[in-house]
Amino acid sequence: MKLPELNAYLHLLGPTPLAPIRLDDEGPLIWCKLEFLNPSGSTKDRIARHILTKAWREGQIQPGSTVLEASSGSTSIAMALVSAQLGLRFIAVMPEGVSNERVLMIRAFGGEIRLTPKALGIRGSIAETERLAAELNGFLPRQFSNPENAAAHAHTTAREVLDQIPGGQVDAVVSGVGTGGTLVGLYQGICESGCAPIPVLAKPVDLGDTPEVECCSFSARIPGVIDCISTILKPEEMPGLEILEVRDKDALATTRALMRHGFPVGASSGLNYAAAVQIARRLGPAAQVVTVLPDRMERYFTTEVFEPMRAAV
Ligand code: PMP
Repeated sequence: MKLPELNAYLHLLGPTPLAPIRLDDEGPLIWCKLEFLNPSGSTKDRIARHILTKAWREGQIQPGSTVLEASSGSTSIAMALVSAQLGLRFIAVMPEGVSNERVLMIRAFGGEIRLTPKALGIRGSIAETERLAAELNGFLPRQFSNPENAAAHAHTTAREVLDQIPGGQVDAVVSGVGTGGTLVGLYQGICESGCAPIPVLAKPVDLGDTPEVECCSFSARIPGVIDCISTILKPEEMPGLEILEVRDKDALATTRALMRHGFPVGASSGLNYAAAVQIARRLGPAAQVVTVLPDRMERYFTTEVFEPMRAAV
C-alpha cells in the first residue's frame, strides 16, 4: 500500500549535522552526529521509520494495524511517533521503573504502555510482546534481533557521515550498545565505502554502584546501553573490535560538559564522547573519530545526570 502523504513528514526528514566538538583546549576533536535533532529526539527515529515503512510497503501492516515493541524508551518513543504518522496502533512494553518522561512522551504520540515486572528485566518485556502479538495479531519490529535495525543506520547514518566528514575518511566509529544497531550499521555502512575504521564499543563500568542495577535490565546509570541481549552485534564480523571502558561517573560528567557547551544530550552521549576521546588520543591528532549523540536531555530530568542541577535550585 502507498505510504500516506497527508500527515507523514517522514519522507521529508533530512540528515542530522555532523559537528566537530572539542570540549577542552587540550582535548581531541571528535566528529559527533547530532542525533538528538531527530523529530522524536533520538536516533531511533531512523530504525522506526525504516522498519515500519518497509513493513508497510511489504503489506505486513496497514492503517489500524497494531505494532508492539519492547524498549527502554527511546525506541518506543520513536515507534509511537512513526505509528502516529502512519495511522497505526502502538503498544510499548517495558519493565517497571523507566523514567516517567518517556511514558509521557509515548502517550503524547497516542501510544499505549504495558509494564512488565522489573525483576524480569527487558527479557520479560520481550516475552510479553510475543504473547500480545499472538493475541492481537500484531507486528513485531524486534529491534534486538532484526538486521533491518543495523541496515537503517548503514543506509542513512553511515552514508550521511561519509558525505559530511572531510575527505570521506573515518578512522574510528564509537558507540555504546543497546541493540547494537548503531555501531554495527555505522561500521558496515562506512566499510562499504572502502574505509576500514576501527569499531569501538563504549562500555559503561561500575554498574555495581547502584543496587537496583542488574545485567540485562535498562536500569543502569546510562539508560539505553546494555551489553547482553543483542543478536545483531556479532564480534566475529567486526575485525579489530575494541571495547573501551568508561566509568559511569565519567560518562555522566562528560554528559554535563556537553550540556555546558550547548548540546542538549542524554547520558549515553557522554559515554560515547568519553570513549571517543580515549581512541582519538591513542590514534593522534590526524585521526578522524566519529561518534553519535543519541538522544535529547529532556527525557532525563528525573535521573542522576540532572542531580547537580536539582541541588542548585
Ligand atoms: N543511547 C540511548 C539513549 C539508547 O536508548 C540506545 C538504545 N536503546 C542506545 C544509546 C544504543 O543504541 P543501539 O540500540 O543502536 O545500540
